[in-house]
Amino acid sequence: MRHQKLFTPGPTEVREEILQTLSTPQIYHRSKEFSELYAEIQPKLQQLFYTKNPVFIFPSSATGAMEAAVINGVRKKCLNLVNGAFSNRWYEITQMNGIDSDALNVEWGKAIKPEMVKEMLDKGEHDAVTLVFNETSTGMMNPLKEIAEVIREYDDVLLFVDAVSALGGVKIEVDKLGIDMCLAGVQKCMALPSGIAVASISERLLERANEVRRGFYFNIPRLYKYHLKNQTMVTPPIPHIFALNAQLDYILKEEGLEKRFARHEKMAKIVQNWARKYFDIFPEKGYESKTVTCIKNTRGISIAGLNEELAKYYLKISNGYGKLKEKTFRIAHMGDMEVHDVEGLLALIEDILNL
Ligand SMILES: *Cc1c(COP(=O)(O)O)cnc(C)c1O
Repeated sequence: MRHQKLFTPGPTEVREEILQTLSTPQIYHRSKEFSELYAEIQPKLQQLFYTKNPVFIFPSSATGAMEAAVINGVRKKCLNLVNGAFSNRWYEITQMNGIDSDALNVEWGKAIKPEMVKEMLDKGEHDAVTLVFNETSTGMMNPLKEIAEVIREYDDVLLFVDAVSALGGVKIEVDKLGIDMCLAGVQKCMALPSGIAVASISERLLERANEVRRGFYFNIPRLYKYHLKNQTMVTPPIPHIFALNAQLDYILKEEGLEKRFARHEKMAKIVQNWARKYFDIFPEKGYESKTVTCIKNTRGISIAGLNEELAKYYLKISNGYGKLKEKTFRIAHMGDMEVHDVEGLLALIEDILNL
């Protein structure tokens, strides 16, 4: 079957050049060669995260890194900020690990406001907060900077940010914002094959993890021990690490971060304007995502039907997530996609729907 071009919010299209790096012959993960590769990648990841902190490579999808954050980083009680499917997942992960936590539930599509966080933290019960920056399920971006500012006023409270569908598409200055763990999958804005996750780990989180001592596979102090040797604790997905290295060069050197962010911004504007013209945008005004637009199905079209039509042109968009299925649909504008790709897709949808 011919490949369908993905306008889905993960995985995203991977360039041919990167796909080819996956077939690099395996190298031994305890070799000098591997350590050199790891050491070469590290400063590139730090540049992407705007951090001096170590950045770990997790041999799991992003959800594994979400689990790592809460099992290592909560001593007393966690505050999970919930306004969509992925932030709710983080609450579930916390609960299912038997870690005490409160969910601050906000209606899907509405932003978490800094005052709400302050009110919860003023109770003095929490020592960690989980925040999904870009809620892929609702196409909404939480006000990360403002929320991070509030959290920094509380000495003992660590901040964990899921930047899965934003890192590499939107600037996230980890050190400036004081994020203790910023995590991302690679199959979204970084346009890599799915399978690994990356996360920055602060000194404070390392100290906390040393006290908490929970888990094995995602035990941060153990992972750190290997990180210091430019190795991974377990046999890593080696093909993905070759691909990561090549794509970081592309992102940082060939395209450049500022240009990459500007391209994402431009694509977002185009899709948002289009969505407002023909439909409506699902999330609260002013908090629209810069990487994926969640469109309200105000015309009552069949989203599944639209995708069937698009399939004839070898293209694919996303239906609404979970309970938002058919009520919304999502067009991703992230990764290595270009402005003309997005414009072509929108023109085709206009044609199909006779807009
Ligand atoms: C895709 C996504 C995840 C889950 O990532 P996996 O790599 O599938 O584990 C988590 N959070 C957000 C915001 C996402 O978009």
